[in-house]
Amino acid sequence: MKIEVSRRKFLQGSVALTIFGGSTLSSISLLGDNKINEKEPINKEIPTLCEMCVNKCAAIATIKDGIVKKLDPNPLFPKSRNMLCPRGVAGVHSLYDPDRLKYPLIRVGKRGDGQFKRVTWDEAYHTILNGTKDFKGLKQILDEEKDNRSTIGYCAGEGMAEHTFKSFISDKIGSTNFVNHASICLQTTISAHTLTIGAYGQADLANAKYVIMAGANRAEAIVTPDTMDIFKRTRGRGVTLIVIDPRYTNTAALSDDWLGIKVGTDLALVLALTYIVIKEGLYNKKFVAQNVNGFEEYKEHIISNNYTPEWAESITGIKAEKIIKIARDFMSASPRAIYYQGRRTTWGFQDFQLRRATAIFTALGAGVDVKGGIVFGKKLTLPSHDINTPIYANALGRIDKDVASIVGSNGSWIGWRNKIIENKSPYPIRAMFTYKQNPMLSIPNVAKTKKLFEMMDLVVTIDTMPSDTVIMSDVILPECTYLEREDPIKSFGGVEPSIALRQKVIEPLYESRAVFEILKGLSHKISHSLWEITKKYDEDVADEIKDRGEAKVYHEDGFDLTDSFHKSQEEINKELFTKEYGGEAYKTLKDGGVYYPNMQRYFQKINSNEYEYYPENKRYYSVLKENLKSEIYSGDCVDEKELASMEGRVNTKSGKVECNLSFLTKKGVDSMPTWRDKLYKDTPKGKFRFITGRHAQFTQNSTSNNAMLLDLVRENYVWINKHQADKLNIFHGDLVEIKSPNGVVKIKAYPTNKIIKNVVFYVHGFGATSDDLTLGYRNGASDNIIIADDIETVFGSAVMHETNIEIRKV
Ligand code: SF4
Repeated sequence: MKIEVSRRKFLQGSVALTIFGGSTLSSISLLGDNKINEKEPINKEIPTLCEMCVNKCAAIATIKDGIVKKLDPNPLFPKSRNMLCPRGVAGVHSLYDPDRLKYPLIRVGKRGDGQFKRVTWDEAYHTILNGTKDFKGLKQILDEEKDNRSTIGYCAGEGMAEHTFKSFISDKIGSTNFVNHASICLQTTISAHTLTIGAYGQADLANAKYVIMAGANRAEAIVTPDTMDIFKRTRGRGVTLIVIDPRYTNTAALSDDWLGIKVGTDLALVLALTYIVIKEGLYNKKFVAQNVNGFEEYKEHIISNNYTPEWAESITGIKAEKIIKIARDFMSASPRAIYYQGRRTTWGFQDFQLRRATAIFTALGAGVDVKGGIVFGKKLTLPSHDINTPIYANALGRIDKDVASIVGSNGSWIGWRNKIIENKSPYPIRAMFTYKQNPMLSIPNVAKTKKLFEMMDLVVTIDTMPSDTVIMSDVILPECTYLEREDPIKSFGGVEPSIALRQKVIEPLYESRAVFEILKGLSHKISHSLWEITKKYDEDVADEIKDRGEAKVYHEDGFDLTDSFHKSQEEINKELFTKEYGGEAYKTLKDGGVYYPNMQRYFQKINSNEYEYYPENKRYYSVLKENLKSEIYSGDCVDEKELASMEGRVNTKSGKVECNLSFLTKKGVDSMPTWRDKLYKDTPKGKFRFITGRHAQFTQNSTSNNAMLLDLVRENYVWINKHQADKLNIFHGDLVEIKSPNGVVKIKAYPTNKIIKNVVFYVHGFGATSDDLTLGYRNGASDNIIIADDIETVFGSAVMHETNIEIRKV
C-alpha cells in the first residue's frame, strides 16, 4: 500500500513486547481481587472477551505502563472455564501488529493498485458522501438510483459488533442487501437442526457416551473446554468417539475409531445407519411415540428406498459391518449419544439433507434436550436496544431471493455476488460496505470477487488490518482491535448460562476507532444529505411532511441517522443490563467480566484448574419439560427465529422432532432426507477431489499476519496420499501446481498416508496477496482461488468440497 503523505512517526513498532504463554492461573478471585485500582491506573488487570475466533472466551488483560503485557484466562466464565487457546494468547500480537491500519485512507490510484492518501476522519466521511474525482459517493449514487437504498451492498463477519454494523445499514440507511459468513459456514447445519429439532443446540460432550464426529476436526479447529471435555474421556475413559473423515486428523488420532469416507457421501452413511436402527427396532420407542412427528412416513421412506449398509458401502467406501456396528453401539449408548451437528458444513450439494438426517438419527435415540445429548440450555434475558427505524418506500427487496429455495436475511454470498457480476441483478448494486470480513480470501472464486469490487462505484471497508479486501477499497476506516473497545453486552446461552462483557483494556491506538464510533461519525456527516434524497423521491415521506411538517417526520420517523448514537456503547450496556439485573450486578460484571444469578453462591474452585459454575441440579440440560421454550438458547450466526417463523416459532410448530417437513416440497426441497444420485459425482480418473478445513493456530484468514501464530505454522502444505504422490514423483516439500477450472495455485506438498486416495487437502487462511501484510504476504496458497463457486439449492450455501483438481510437480 503506497500512502501519499509524509508519514508521521506513530506508535507503530515502538512497543517492544515479550509475550509469554498465558496459561498462568490468574490470581483473581470471585468478585473482589480483580477490581481496577483507581489509584494505580498504570498497572491493572481488566477482564474482557477474546475475539481471535468466534468462541469469545473470557480473558484478563494485564496492563503495565499503558501496555498490554499478556492475556490470561478468566476463570469466572462458564463457557471458557479458565482456558485461552494459543490464538487467544496471541491476541496481544494483533493489538501491537505494526502493519495495523492506523488512520483513515482514501484511494488515489486505480482500484486495487494500493495507492492511498491519508485523511482525517472528517475527510473520510465527507468522501463516502461525496466521492472524489476517481469514484462516486453515496449522495450521487442514491440520487441516481432514486433513493433505492438497497443499491448499497454490505457484508460482515461474525462478531459482537456485527449487529451494530448490520443494524445501521439495514435499519437506519435502509438497504436489504446484506451477506454474512453463514452461507460460507454453518447455514445448512443450523437451519437443518432448527427445522428438525427446534434449534441447533449444543452437543453435551462432557456427558455423552457415544459421539460420531464427521468432518469436524475439534482437536485442531477450535480448542475450547468442550473440545477438551471429550478428549479427556476417549479411548476407554467414558465416551466412544467415532471420527468419519477423508483425513486422519488430530481428532481421528484421539478417537476410538476412524473411518475414511469418500468425499460427498456422508448422507448415504447416515441413511444406512438409520436403516439399521429402524429395521432392527433399536430406536427409543417411547421417545419416538411421544416426541417425533412423521416417523411412520420416514420409516417407510428409509426401508422402501433400501438404504441398506451394503448400498452405503458401495457409495461411501465404509464397510457394511462397520455401519451396522456403529448403528447398534450408538443406540446402546443413547440417549447419551450424539451425531455431532458440525460447524462449517459447506461441503456438498446434499448438506441440508445430511444435517436433517443426522438430527433425526440422534433423536431416534432420544438424545435431544437431555444430558449427554444435544442440549438447548437457557439464555439469560437482556433487554434489547431499540432503535427508531425509518421506512423507505423505494428500497427494494434483496437481489438473491431466487438463487435458492430459502434465502434469508443473511443471504447467499456466492449467489448474491454472481448475480451482480453476471448482470442478472434486478437493479444495480453500486456500493459495498465491508466490516470484519475479507471476501477476497473467504469466498470461493477469488477472480469473481475481485470483479465484484471492480464493478462498484464505491467500496468502503472497516478493518484492523490491510487485508486483500482493504486493498480493493476506496475508503478505508481503521477499526480498533477488540482490546481497545467495549462491544454490545452479550448473553451466552447454554447449560450454564451467563452474561459477559467485552470491555476496553486500553484506549484505541493510532487514530483507530470502534465500529460504534465510526458509524456515529458517519451518521452525523451523511444524515441530512441522505434525507434530502429521500424527500426528493419518496412520495410517502412527502405526504407525511405535508401532514406533520419536516422536522417531525425526520426525527420521529427515524430518518435522523444519528439518533442511535446519542448514548455511548458503555452507557447502552450499563442501561440495558442494570434494567434487568440492577446496579450491584453491574458492578460484578464490570469487575469480573461475567455475571449470572446466584454466581456468588454457585461459583466454586474445585482444584487448581477446575471450577464449578452451577450445581449439577441447577444446570439446564433439559429445558423443554420445564416450559422454558421462550428462553431457549439458539445461536446467532443464522437467524433461527426468522427461519423457524416458517413453521411458527423457534421450536418446531408441533413441538416435536420433524421427520417429514411437507412445506419443503412446495419449495422444491425433499420433505425427508433422500439420497440423490444426480447430486453426487465421483471424481474422474486422474483427478483429485479438493477439500479444505480449519487449523488450531489460525482463524480463517484473519490471523494470517500474527507473528506469534506464524511461529507455529508458517505456511500451508497440500496433503496428498503417499502412494499416489510416489507415482507422481512428488515428495515432501516439493512445489506442486494445483489446477481447477477456477484457478491455479502453487503450494508445497505433504505426502501422507493420513488421507484417502483421490483426495487432496490444504488448510484455509493462507495465500494473502496484500503486500502490506509483512508476515502474511504470500505464505502458501489460498483455497478459494481453486474452489468452484457452485451453491447448494436449499439455502444457497457454498459447496466447498465439490471441486476436482489436477496436481503436478513444478
Ligand atoms: S478459542 Fe481461542 S481464539 Fe477462540 S475465543 Fe477462545 S481463546 Fe480466543
